Amino acid sequence: MDKTIAITENIQKIRQDFPILGRNINNHPLVYFDNAATTHKPRQVLDALVHFYSHENSNIHRGVHTLAQEVTGKYENAREKIRSFINASYSHEIIFTKGTTESINLAASSFSKRFVSSGDEIVITEMEHHSNFIPWQIACSERSATLKVCRITDSGELDLDHFRELLTSKVKLIAVTHISNSLGTVNPVKKIIEEAHASGIPVLIDGAQAIAHSRVNVQELDCDFYCFSGHKMYGPTGIGILYGKEKYLNDMPPYQSGGSMIKKVTVKETTFGDLPLKFEAGTPPVGDAIALVAAVEYIENLGFDFIVNRENELVNYALDKLETLSDIKMYGHAKHRAPVISFLIDTIHPYDTGIILDKLGIAVRTGHHCTQPVMDKYNIPGTVRVSFAFYNTIEEIDAFIIGIERVKKILKV
Ligand code: PMP
Repeated sequence: MDKTIAITENIQKIRQDFPILGRNINNHPLVYFDNAATTHKPRQVLDALVHFYSHENSNIHRGVHTLAQEVTGKYENAREKIRSFINASYSHEIIFTKGTTESINLAASSFSKRFVSSGDEIVITEMEHHSNFIPWQIACSERSATLKVCRITDSGELDLDHFRELLTSKVKLIAVTHISNSLGTVNPVKKIIEEAHASGIPVLIDGAQAIAHSRVNVQELDCDFYCFSGHKMYGPTGIGILYGKEKYLNDMPPYQSGGSMIKKVTVKETTFGDLPLKFEAGTPPVGDAIALVAAVEYIENLGFDFIVNRENELVNYALDKLETLSDIKMYGHAKHRAPVISFLIDTIHPYDTGIILDKLGIAVRTGHHCTQPVMDKYNIPGTVRVSFAFYNTIEEIDAFIIGIERVKKILKV
């Protein structure tokens, strides 16, 4: 069979797994290009959720009855599945949270309480999502420490010379995104970690945009913390991961307190449980953790070779097409980029572009993408962002390009 036909048939088969992709929006077939905000969920994940609530639902860790025992086992299996997915050394280095935002807040709060004091510094970068910006701003202000921000270049890459200048003996941690959600830049995190470690500085990686697009191996990266969300990797909302090296997590105080995270509570004092439960106070998102296993299996069945090739093909096709259009200004020209494109059409406000595209059934994201410092750098109110997943098609990109022409015509550019 012709290779192109085979790929098209394969993608059509994959699309059948995602019921929402069959929807019409404003009388047009949905073209979903907002995968960086959240990905859709395959039937396997939806079935896992329905199965959990229909047949397994129970609280974990504190019950002797059969359902509680079964579900506790499945929840801990989910932890083990995530451990092997990112190749962590131990499953107790995997903390379930409700998403990247909570993972980073936990790390920023607990790490800084234990390791950051007055006069110390924390380094982040200008391209961080607000989730990897504000928690460090707060931590620094609470600890009388200073937040240093590594600049980005005009092409939207980290200024590595500036980064090296910032590596002083005062720095207690570097927090950097693996992939920029607004520029698509893939950062050289392995190199950053190596250089930081050479100065004895631990590194936290915000992996929200990376986890679904390439294989992440935390031991190979040697990062000290890695954070991501289930909903951006074809899993449910409300579940996320904080990976942390045992040596740091053991020394960090709990982030929240309550049920499940204790050894002993008396009226005088409380002693805390061991990892990972020390950081999982209260009832965790049990069903979501179990359904996340189905998402990981889905990704593993497709394989990252397929995912990376497919997404590269889509983003390169879209970039080529956009370059043929006049009045398009792109933001983010990194050599190594993810399937994310940010742009503006002439002086048209991104919201106007987004609204007209929506009328054509095309879902794009508009605005500052929770990266206001990036928008400040380029002196723009926001961008239009398209972000792809393996289930997108070349035909959808063609429809989007026609949509852009339509926007230009309607708004007379
Ligand atoms: N970091 C980055 C780079 C992101 O793109 C996002 C989500 N847009 C987050 C953090 C926050 O993720 P969540 O909302 O799932 O907590």
